[in-house]
Amino acid sequence: MKIYGYENDLLRMVDEQIINRGIIDERLIRAMQIVPRHLFVPESHQHLAYSDGPLPIGFGQTISQPYIVALMISELRLTGNEHVLEIGTGCGYQTAILSHLVEDVITIEIVPELAQRAVNSLDQLGLNNVSVLSRDGSTGWEFAAPYDAILISAAAPEVPIPLLHQLADGGRMILPVGIQGYQYLELWTYANSEYQKATGIPVAFVPLRGKYGWK
Ligand code: SAH
Repeated sequence: MKIYGYENDLLRMVDEQIINRGIIDERLIRAMQIVPRHLFVPESHQHLAYSDGPLPIGFGQTISQPYIVALMISELRLTGNEHVLEIGTGCGYQTAILSHLVEDVITIEIVPELAQRAVNSLDQLGLNNVSVLSRDGSTGWEFAAPYDAILISAAAPEVPIPLLHQLADGGRMILPVGIQGYQYLELWTYANSEYQKATGIPVAFVPLRGKYGWK
């Protein structure tokens, strides 16, 4: 476990895995340079916290690969004033990055123990523009809609329609769609009463559960 001296590993992670692979959003790069990923990883895996891949976080779930976190967030083209919904908090790492980049984040995690752990880590970093809910997020959270951006970090069978309807005009939503072993990122945009989809790279996420997930 590393508590002291993680900064070099963190900066190297951002250089090698984020900047070198073409992420150019300066605010996103800065956020990734200040959020300590090891705080979101169980103690048994903290020595791997800055490695180039996903890691187990318990309950059969994972913390996403840093590059995928960066890629998905960069596709949302955040500028600072956004009201954002995230589905699949997991350990809260991606939530922490988002919290530095937008006005406020509502994040939903179906496993209560993970939601609680995320709350603890986010509190530890003093990130107070985040609300964590523990419930099925596949139907979204209409009470705080519309959202300027929605990010789903578990793979759905197809884009959940209620979530599309919770996008604000000009809003953007990114999610993985597909079965295990065959998933692609989809970027949905809503403007002038029209939805548009663009398909991105192949990815490997845990399945989305719940009503609009794999049940
Ligand atoms: N965003 C995380 C990745 C978490 S993995 C990161 O920063 O690394 C995906 C998470 O989605 C898991 O914790 C899983 O429990 C959660 N999940 C799956 N289905 C869900 C649903 N219907 N609603 C909310 N969370 C869900």
